[in-house]
Amino acid sequence: MTARAAVVGAGTMGNGIAHVFAQHGWEVALIDTVPAALDKALGTIRTNLERQVKKGALPADAPSQVLGRIRAAPALDAAKGASLVVEAASENPAVKFAVFEQLDQIAEPAAILATNTSSISITEIAARTRRPAQVIGMHFMNPVPVMQLVEVIRGHSTSDATTAAVMETARALGKVPVEVNDYPGFVSNRVLMPMINEAIFCVMEGVATPEAIDTVMKLGMAHPMGPLALADFIGLDVCLAILEVLHRGLGDDKYRACPLLRRMVAAGQLGKKTGRGFYDYSKQ
Ligand code: NAD
Repeated sequence: MTARAAVVGAGTMGNGIAHVFAQHGWEVALIDTVPAALDKALGTIRTNLERQVKKGALPADAPSQVLGRIRAAPALDAAKGASLVVEAASENPAVKFAVFEQLDQIAEPAAILATNTSSISITEIAARTRRPAQVIGMHFMNPVPVMQLVEVIRGHSTSDATTAAVMETARALGKVPVEVNDYPGFVSNRVLMPMINEAIFCVMEGVATPEAIDTVMKLGMAHPMGPLALADFIGLDVCLAILEVLHRGLGDDKYRACPLLRRMVAAGQLGKKTGRGFYDYSKQ
């Protein structure tokens, strides 16, 4: 029997998640309330599949086969019939809570409801449903078709069976799943964001230039990207929001966001997406 998944949200992450599931033989309902987001996602998936064909990673007929398994849909009803739903809608608690309340009504009773959230509590999301044992974090990394890691986050009530099923699914998608527990920032952002924040303090205090800081971390620590270039790539507004989750959730001032980060966000310098962050992208 063909495995069926639904992906809610067709933005940066949702298109990559749908791509990977469909590439591995799943029938996928890709759901977004904004029709233009669905069109854009299907275009991005096609471009990325064609790139994989050019590199010799996929056969020439793969794009049409994979796209043939993805059905774009404007409403959550399309999640009916899926054994696994992965929510990758906007990072806003009110949006996620509403989506999970509705999914709980629509999805099959046995279906697992996963969220790709970077920072919202899995336990709080699960508590909005009548199936908290079947709610889990499935945190893919950007770009999804390329990055190997899936951070699998157990909420307070997530069952062993749900965790085992999601770990197994991630492996079947060619990913490496790592199991962690639900505390603010999980592991990825709890370790990454303080490093980025400290790099920003170094800029603010004049310890070194952004280029110098990134070079130290690339050549000295073998990081593929410096922390400030990475912050620009993630978005400085997203970094600030995650630091606030860590600060509030863990109650420790070591997670206090750097004032320069706040000032750059206030100035609208959010990184790559606005053309300006620690680096200038306006001429690219
Ligand atoms: P995005 O803004 O690119 O896309 C979000 C999409 O969700 C939009 O197309 C929007 O129209 C849609 N949406 C909003 N409300 C909806 C609803 N009620 N029903 C259906 N669709 C809805 O966001 P993104 O960067 O893809 O992030 C999605 C999730 O993945 C977030 O939780 C984010 O924290 C997480 N995440 C992002 C990254 C990243 O690098 N971008 C990495 C890991 C995790």
